[in-house]
Amino acid sequence: MIKLLYFRKKILFLFILVVGFTAISKPGLAYVIHDDGWDGPGQNSWSMSYYFGTMTPDLAPVDVKSTLVSALSVWSSVVDITFTETISANQNNAIDFSFVTGNHGDGYPLNPGGALAHGFFPAPPNPETIGGDVHFNDNYLWEIGNSLGGSAFDLKWVAVHEIGHALGLNHSLNGSAVMFPTVSSSTVFSSLHADDIAGIQSIYATATASAAVPEPGTIVLFGIGIFLVFGYGCRRRKLSTK
Ligand SMILES: [Zn+2]
Ligand SMILES: [Zn+2]
Repeated sequence: MIKLLYFRKKILFLFILVVGFTAISKPGLAYVIHDDGWDGPGQNSWSMSYYFGTMTPDLAPVDVKSTLVSALSVWSSVVDITFTETISANQNNAIDFSFVTGNHGDGYPLNPGGALAHGFFPAPPNPETIGGDVHFNDNYLWEIGNSLGGSAFDLKWVAVHEIGHALGLNHSLNGSAVMFPTVSSSTVFSSLHADDIAGIQSIYATATASAAVPEPGTIVLFGIGIFLVFGYGCRRRKLSTK
């Protein structure tokens, strides 16, 4: 069983490299897709659920929930995906949000100094019900915006990034894209980059009534903040051992 799992991981990693090379080869675009998304091949509309699991003590639950809903709407403003809340955990075709520490049941612990968060790619290729789930590392301090400066991270930026994974996007090479794998503690989410929009619209149908205006990459505050590499946690989120 363990050997089989290891083999599958290697296969999937190779798959990512192939897909990545194909996407990167498009001139001017740096986004990388991981798979066809929840809707399968082609750019289709989609509907799915989200669920609020364990909250963080850092923020009022009502503020966490509104921020996560806002992060979902960032993506649904540019692609035709409808998100509906469910009060039941562990549903198929659902993004379960939770704040966790250490080992939390999926085989990818979130420890102090580790990844800020991880999000599981869609099912398939991930199995249900872990596909799409997003886990925030509660060893870090969370904020909305940058009210706590360099000691905390903007929940909205990280949520938008992880939801991007949950919808099928891998990391972008564009340093101004929200799908870039690192973030500063002083960075605040403002809008998707044109590269993020091109990436998600290569997986799903474009939102019909969208008034979204891609803005050039906002000037990222590279100066002061601490950079954290999502890489390790994000690479591992591609396959659950659950
Ligand atoms: Zn997890
Ligand atoms: Zn990531």
